[in-house]
Formats: sequence, C-alpha cells, structure tokens
Amino acid sequence: MTSDLLIRNVRPMGGPATDVLVRSGRIAAMSAGGAEPSIPVLDGAGELLLPGLIEAHTHLDKTMWGMPWKPHAAGPRLIDKIETERRQRRELDIEPERQSGRQALQSLRMGSTHIRTHIDVDTEVGLSGIEGVMRMRERYRDRIHVEIVAFPQSGLLVRPGTLELMREAMRLGAEVVGGLDPNAIDRDPKGHLDAIFGLAQEFGRPVDIHLHEPAELGGFAMELIIERTRALGMQGRVVVSHAFCLGMSDRDYARSLIDQLARERIAVMTTGAPSRPVPPVRECAEAGLVVCAGSDGIRDSWSPYGNADMLERAMLIGLRNNFREDEEIALALNACTRGGATVMALADYGLEVGCAADLLIVPGEVPAEAVVSRPAKRTVVKGGRIVVRDGEVTTAA
Ligand SMILES: [Zn+2]
Repeated sequence: MTSDLLIRNVRPMGGPATDVLVRSGRIAAMSAGGAEPSIPVLDGAGELLLPGLIEAHTHLDKTMWGMPWKPHAAGPRLIDKIETERRQRRELDIEPERQSGRQALQSLRMGSTHIRTHIDVDTEVGLSGIEGVMRMRERYRDRIHVEIVAFPQSGLLVRPGTLELMREAMRLGAEVVGGLDPNAIDRDPKGHLDAIFGLAQEFGRPVDIHLHEPAELGGFAMELIIERTRALGMQGRVVVSHAFCLGMSDRDYARSLIDQLARERIAVMTTGAPSRPVPPVRECAEAGLVVCAGSDGIRDSWSPYGNADMLERAMLIGLRNNFREDEEIALALNACTRGGATVMALADYGLEVGCAADLLIVPGEVPAEAVVSRPAKRTVVKGGRIVVRDGEVTTAA
C-alpha cells in the first residue's frame, strides 16, 4: 500500500496555502504549485492543515462506547467509582479488545493520530485489559498509534499481588508505569511512589501518575514525585495527570510547585475538568511546563461524557481557562497536539519537512476557529495514507 501522497492547497496552521508532498510516509516538501507527480492527490480545498491530534490520557479498556446506554451509577467519592467499576466489569460485557477498538476508531474519526491509554491492572482482571488492548493496537497499527500505561486503578499496595502484575505488564510491553493518588488510595505515599519509580527504573520506562488529590494533600504527593524525579534523573520522563492541586487557592504554594515541576521537566495533563480546580494552563506554559491533554474516561462507569474529540477538548480547556483570544486558544490546542507529542516522545511529530505525515485537514481560517466550530468534516492522514475522509474511516485503511 502506498504512503506517497500529494496534498494540494492546504494552509498549515492557517498560514499561506501550500502543497504538501509526502514520500514514504513523511513530509518531503512543502511548496505551492509543483508538477503533478504520479502519486495519489488529495485536494485540500484551501482548508486548515494541523498536525494529528494527540489524545494523551484516556482509558480505552473500559469505555462502553457503542454499547447500550448505561445510566451513571457511581457515588461521589473516588472509592465509590472504583467499586462501581469493579462491579460493572463483572455484570456488563465490557470486553477490552472490542471496546478499545471502538474508541480508538472514534478517536481517529475525530482526528487523533496518537493515543496514550491507561489500562487497568489488578488482581481481578489481571492482565486481560493489557492483552486485549495490545491485540487491538496490532490490528489498527497502520491507522493509529497507541501507547499503553500499566495502571493500578484499584491500588497498588492495598491489593497484594498487583505490583507483580504491574511488573508482568511491563514485561509484556506496556510502555509506561502508571500510578494513582498515593495518599488517598494506598494511604502510603512513600511506599506507592517508591514502588512505581522502582518499576520505572527496573524497565527504563517513564511514569504517568494520576493525581486527583486536592490542595495541600496533592501538593505533598507532588513534592514526593518531584524529589524522586530529581534523585533518579528522570527529568522529561514523568507526567502528573490531572494535577488538581495546581489549581488550589493558595497561589503562592501552587506557584512554587509549578516552578519545581518546570525545573525537573515534569509535564502535567489536564482535561479542563469543569467541576474541579485545574492547573492554570497559561501560568504553567509561561513557567515552561509541558501541558498535554486528554479525554480521560469516555462513556464508562466514571463518566457518561466524552466523544474522543480533541478539538472539543481544546475548547473545554479554553473555556475552563477563560481563553478568548486566538493566541490563548492556540495554547489550549497546543496541549492537544505538541504537548501530547512531547510527553509521548514523538521525535518526528509536526508539520515540518521530515516529520511523519500524521495530519488533520479541517475547514477553518485559523486554528482557533477549528477549536470553536469543531467541524464534522475532517480528513485524517496517517503515515501518508488517507485513513479518514470527511469524518468517515476509509475502507482502504
Ligand atoms: Zn484517567
């Protein structure tokens, strides 16, 4: 199958119109009006050219996407959601390979070319989620890139045997070590963080830890994460997902945390959650922090919301951060593109010559308009092949 393509008349990031020549899956040249080579041609019709969107935080193994509607049943606390999920996993047929495939294709339709997904590892499901999602990603490997975080959703130390399963998940090929609220779930912050950073060292892998813990409690956990990142030389290889504590009302403390995160090149992931304090994206970016973005759970026992649209995610982040100017909305979109690419260490991501031809073409004058209008008509190119045309996955893919 060819991965050569000539894309006519597109405007990279809203700039002047150009043609994009793709050879062997990479951007080979960007210039207007060259001769017609004997390769497939895609007419961009003067639309906007963006790099493929990056879904940097979701949970592919537990979505109920495409299943009958299930009213939300979990109580308000974190532990209610964990227990409801464990029960629903037994009662409903949430088969990880099928369900992860449904959500991955939905992501692709919406313009994402890369996904980082956290996959549950616990003493009940064992490695079945990891194995199912690995089969799915192999099947769709030419369409979408999926990176797996082994995630101890039900706790690491409170459920003996989980750490050994996490080790097994890393041996199977999970790329990232996950963690979760070291105070609130394991009630042993030092033990939890030593265990996950230990695994990261053992396998030479990065860390991505869910930190919902609020204010001073979250700040305390974050300081322990910062200490370990520094001591182990893991700068640039740690993400704190959610990082709600950075939105705390004590701005002096939050600011000192942001500066320490920047110093150790620790990234943060935000969903722009409307119901919680969130990391202030502009302040983080100005301090030099990498900010990436994700949908988190989509139509699962945690949340009935979500549609895997990272343009919509950029809009939600923009709304949550009171962004109105084009340059501000660009910051939100940057979290859904280059921020995610940085945490996933995608060295060949972008719109420059030599980058992988992982691209999104949408109507709109400038990126801010695409975020605000979230057009249904989207064309997605992955490795130089058209995988979505006008919002539908192509059969050729
Ligand atoms: Zn999550």
